[in-house]
Amino acid sequence: MKRTIRDLKNIKGKRILLRCDFNVPLDHWGDILNDNRIKQALPTISYLVDQGAKLIVCSHLGRPKGYDKYLSLFPVAVYLMKYFPNKVKFCGKVVGSEVTAAASKLKDGEILVLENLRFDSRETENDPTFVQELVSLADIFVDDAFGVAHRKHASNYGVALKLPTAVGFLIEKELEVFDKAFQTPAHPFVAIFGGAKVDDKLNLINNVMKFADTIIIGGGMAYTFLQAKGINIGNSIVSLDLVDDAKRIMDEAEKRNIKILLPVDHLAICEGKKGVVRTKELFKGMTALDIGNKTIKLFTDEILNAKQIIWNGPLGKYEDSRFKKGTMKIAKAVAKSGAYSIVGGGDSVSAVEISGVADRINHLSTGGGASMKLMEGKVLPAIEVVDTL
Ligand code: ADP
Ligand code: MG
Repeated sequence: MKRTIRDLKNIKGKRILLRCDFNVPLDHWGDILNDNRIKQALPTISYLVDQGAKLIVCSHLGRPKGYDKYLSLFPVAVYLMKYFPNKVKFCGKVVGSEVTAAASKLKDGEILVLENLRFDSRETENDPTFVQELVSLADIFVDDAFGVAHRKHASNYGVALKLPTAVGFLIEKELEVFDKAFQTPAHPFVAIFGGAKVDDKLNLINNVMKFADTIIIGGGMAYTFLQAKGINIGNSIVSLDLVDDAKRIMDEAEKRNIKILLPVDHLAICEGKKGVVRTKELFKGMTALDIGNKTIKLFTDEILNAKQIIWNGPLGKYEDSRFKKGTMKIAKAVAKSGAYSIVGGGDSVSAVEISGVADRINHLSTGGGASMKLMEGKVLPAIEVVDTL
């Protein structure tokens, strides 16, 4: 069991470096377009503030190469000021003498927000000099940045090796959910896969075969599997180098008596026109961008029967309103099923949010890459180095 902030005693007056995931979308005016990630960090911040710790909060935002005024964490600091009036400071630097001075002036229960960690290239390189500068600011390190827990960066992996450590409430919750999902899975266990990044997800399917009774494959991923079955997929998205792997997965599933469901009809475009076609009617010139009604029914019947569901990857090009129906219907079926449900993946979570049923899903994982690694059964390096109890 990892040490959590609840296990930290006598932290009044202690300097705590807290790594959050404030990687939120901003517009050019610095307005926060989706505050979900900041909201998810609030319980940990509130708890540490209430305990009278001196908080030094850090995060990355986007992928800056050096300083980028459009990716400053200042809007996040302003956002936090609303929740913690008169307690939040921001000095506009990542590390260095100004930060050290600001940190030393912190009173109990106050919060210093550092500038975007990735303005300094040493962050992603896990450079020991950068680690040392962060370490010098604090007595204790708390990691609550689940979204980057699969990365070995200075502000999570690096500092965790040098300071006493604990995880925050957000990471604690993510770990609990995935532990429960895979250690005592309920059956029927239905895994739903879609999206476009097939190569990232084949390992995940391999791991899920240990638990799943049914594997549903839709979205862009389905066409690599249909191709492996020798079906003409027209111009639909395919990863040709993974066709053999897809075939192997289907053979393995058959051996283990795991049902694999693939789309039987599709919403496709052909020369600018869209229409529904059966799988065997797909031909050159057609690009399939959503599942059709028969497939929605096929998948829904299986989903409604499930006791546990994990879902990664939208079932169509949901960002385009013409091709979002399949994903929306499947989200509603998952909500309706009453199964214990986990959705992971950046696009998958936004699709569920668009569908309006997000509050009926048991767990929307905040980390795309990190949640996929947990589903693959891997340990996350930044969490592995956090102290155990
Ligand atoms: P996640 O972020 O949840 O892990 P991915 O990034 O793998 O999911 O996949 C999401 C992307 O997959 C979306 O941009 C969506 O448009 C795309 N997609 C889904 N179905 C199709 C399809 N049939 N053809 C092309 N792209 C698709
Ligand atoms: Mg994505």
